[in-house]
Amino acid sequence: GASCLQVLEKRSVLVAVRARPPNEREKAAASAECLSFEAETGIVLHRDEDRDHRFAFDCIMRQTTGQREVYDRTARPLLHKVLEGYNGCLFAYGQTGSGKTFTMQGAAGEEGIIPTLCTELFREIQEAAEQRHITVVCSVLEIYNEKVKDLAADAAGEDLAIREDGSQGGRGIHVEGLKEIQVRSCEEVLDCITKAQLKRSVGKTNMNEHSSRSHSVVTLRIGACDCDDVDAATLTVSKLHLIDLAGSERQKTTGASGDRLKEGAQINLSLSALGNVINALTEKSGGGRHVPYRDSKLTRLLQDSLGGNSYTAIICNISPAKINAEETLSSLRFAERAK
Ligand code: ADP
Ligand code: MG
Repeated sequence: GASCLQVLEKRSVLVAVRARPPNEREKAAASAECLSFEAETGIVLHRDEDRDHRFAFDCIMRQTTGQREVYDRTARPLLHKVLEGYNGCLFAYGQTGSGKTFTMQGAAGEEGIIPTLCTELFREIQEAAEQRHITVVCSVLEIYNEKVKDLAADAAGEDLAIREDGSQGGRGIHVEGLKEIQVRSCEEVLDCITKAQLKRSVGKTNMNEHSSRSHSVVTLRIGACDCDDVDAATLTVSKLHLIDLAGSERQKTTGASGDRLKEGAQINLSLSALGNVINALTEKSGGGRHVPYRDSKLTRLLQDSLGGNSYTAIICNISPAKINAEETLSSLRFAERAK
């Protein structure tokens, strides 16, 4: 089949699916597996009460696919385009517990996409250093309850505004007052992310619930010029957003009221807004279509990095277990709409 880079170059959007191994809870529940794989790109979801659901994607990663291969097939082609000067977005989508954070960050000894990508990025920069001066700045934010919070700032702003600077050589879409930290190595990026995570206004026990309800966005702005100033006019700047999305499970609204109910509704809304934007971008009809970027903070933030002259990779993370089949079906349907 075509390489992932070829797919990305041809269609601007690469849609990948990653199934994780069964976890302890699924093993304990003796939940049968509900997935089977066909050739390189086909996946079948089996549900007892229902016909089988067949899907095809650009790239399917099974339980046995390791972290490096996931990187090579998704983030690596995207980084390639970003280093050519395009903007890019990489999303991990899926229900809570499906492996989004494992895919993006990884675990001890199993580095995920972010550390691997940063290592590769700075290696490339070192190699290019003789011809051009390259500067990287990193920012970390989360969107929680439709509010944008700067996680790298000393004091987390309450709800930062998303602005557009359309001037020639301007910054395009940006978050007003967002702290950007100049980073010179992979370690500095990871350090920045670790510190940011500590700033999330939640105790450890609520961390899981919090991360299932917030979108976490790490942005690298990469500038190349003949001088040291990132904002210099001669600069070519590309942006790469690495996004660990809120859990895609239908938010429980039974028993929820007030803020909780409102929050749940907003998560569903922002994920469907993302689906609508990507769907509008991949519509074959083209021309004159309306892309509803303004329907959520997330899509607004990503407006100049989604569509147009940009590249997108989506990793849809799924559980292999029958007890999760319904959520898996809805995740695969989301991914299918993105193709
Ligand atoms: P999410 O961020 O989607 O809520 P996590 O990434 O936290 O899910 O994954 C849930 C658990 O499953 C974690 O303990 C994680 O280490 C484990 N896990 C997820 N994907 C894999 C995988 N591909 N291989 C091994 N363990 C995985
Ligand atoms: Mg997570």
